[in-house]
Amino acid sequence: MLGLMQNQPLLISSLIDFAERHHGDGEIVSRRVEGDFHRYAWRDVAQRARQVANGLDSWGLGFGERVATLAWNGYRHLELYFGVSGSGRVLHTVNPRLHPEQIAWIVNHAEDQVLCFDLSFLPIVQAIQANCPTVKHWVALCDADKLPAGSGVPGLKSYDAWLADQASTYQWPVFDENTASSMCYTSGTTGNPKAALYSHRSTTLHAYAAALPDVMGISARDAILPVVPMFHVNAWGIPYSAALTGAKLVFPGPAMDGKSIYELIEAEKVSYAAGVPTVWQMLLMHMKPAGLKFSTLKRTVIGGSACPPAMINAFRDDYGVEVLHAWGMTEMSPLGTLCTLKNKHLDLPKDEQMKILLKQGRAIYGVDMKIVGANGEDLPFDGKAAGDLLVRGPWVVREYFKGEGGSPLVRDAQGVEWFPTGDVATIDADGFMQITDRSKDVIKSGGEWISSIDIENIAVAHPAVAMAACIGVFHPKWDERPIVVVVKKPNAEVSRDELLKFYEGKTAKWQIPDDVVFVDAIPLGATGKMLKTRLREQLKDYRLPGL
Ligand code: ADP
Repeated sequence: MLGLMQNQPLLISSLIDFAERHHGDGEIVSRRVEGDFHRYAWRDVAQRARQVANGLDSWGLGFGERVATLAWNGYRHLELYFGVSGSGRVLHTVNPRLHPEQIAWIVNHAEDQVLCFDLSFLPIVQAIQANCPTVKHWVALCDADKLPAGSGVPGLKSYDAWLADQASTYQWPVFDENTASSMCYTSGTTGNPKAALYSHRSTTLHAYAAALPDVMGISARDAILPVVPMFHVNAWGIPYSAALTGAKLVFPGPAMDGKSIYELIEAEKVSYAAGVPTVWQMLLMHMKPAGLKFSTLKRTVIGGSACPPAMINAFRDDYGVEVLHAWGMTEMSPLGTLCTLKNKHLDLPKDEQMKILLKQGRAIYGVDMKIVGANGEDLPFDGKAAGDLLVRGPWVVREYFKGEGGSPLVRDAQGVEWFPTGDVATIDADGFMQITDRSKDVIKSGGEWISSIDIENIAVAHPAVAMAACIGVFHPKWDERPIVVVVKKPNAEVSRDELLKFYEGKTAKWQIPDDVVFVDAIPLGATGKMLKTRLREQLKDYRLPGL
């Protein structure tokens, strides 16, 4: 017997309809590429999203065709999120920090028909346009009078001029909720990039889950600053959760430096921010020497890489900001876990609570997870056994776009299919998961694993250290030994021996790195993560002292 409730497909258009009707005057503030600020409200986003849909119809763009963006976080990007997906096309957010050749590869692979870009990325467009034959329409996200003359981009249009010609009424089509809505390529550290193809159903379910109090806890009372880019896994789904809750959104545009972010938080009374650790590192480095404090910021979600304890402590103790440590991946839309305490933890002493809050967190309803050993056997949830982390759920990929390389899933002894995350983790009896490494970054010394994340966390707790990467290097007796590669803070000093001494008592003796290598910079990938593969290449001639 079937239930007798209404069967409405979960569609992204319903999010923007809802935001317009119930939070029409909720503010959206954006720093523009032009340098000025733009403000309007959810009802304007909805109206312009309908104009986007009409504009795509006027070009005869088919259902399921791809519209690419090369854009910062801003209001026009937000309109495309809803207008493109809502009308049944697929929004393809491209990471502009990739090399132009990779961008062209991705655009061709996705067979994008339209490419909308912020003017900061005109040089990329100029470099790739001749090699992107599928793109029929190049759109600059700017006012009509800002369209660059003589750009060399064929048929280049201004987004605002294009929208001005479109009616603001539009009936969103109704279709199967499993229809593709947006796509995002993984960084492709191994082989060619692969795309996660999200659906309306996966996106709306993820938006609901993300807004829950123990997840991102997003509400109509919040003013949210997503520093995490809209080209990186849909800014962790924040644009959708904000529409679902009616939160105010504050977009940083291209200004991601510590000073600009700080000023924006203060000016727009931001209560909530989200970003990767490297961005917050820049913010803290700007604030500390100047003795600055936050007036309104209460919480920040930090994820994408392990959040060092020193950063969680600084936010909490120096600035009164609660850090929510999050873990996820492009293949997971991206949220998998968030770290918040349970009721039984509330009376624990602060340092006991901190031990929990450093972990990557508890699974969200909708994400099932387990850890397995080398032969695929289930490992216990005891907080000690570390194994390959597997996940499944309605917003986890089943297959990559165009299915190349076959199914990424693995089948367990019960015949259940799981997505292998490539992360190595422990899970404790309360379900708190802690990543110890990427499987390819694991350091194995004398048959024992050393967590590179633990070693990095200790280094960045030293006041003179800005950034640290731990990698394994060849050792004739132990196979591999850890070394730590360190970038010092400006005008700060620490010697090799001082730093190695700093490890004493903080980790087992045999896990203390064998050496410290000071560098000016650690290579970062397109999503702000340390590129350990490149670092290993750079240090390929390195030999441990005495060998
Ligand atoms: P995203 O950066 O959006 O999380 P990616 O697909 O680029 O997605 O990268 C996913 C990988 O990033 C994870 O498999 C994991 O190795 C790493 N990662 C993400 N969040 C964390 C975290 N909080 N702690 C440690 N590693 C993390």
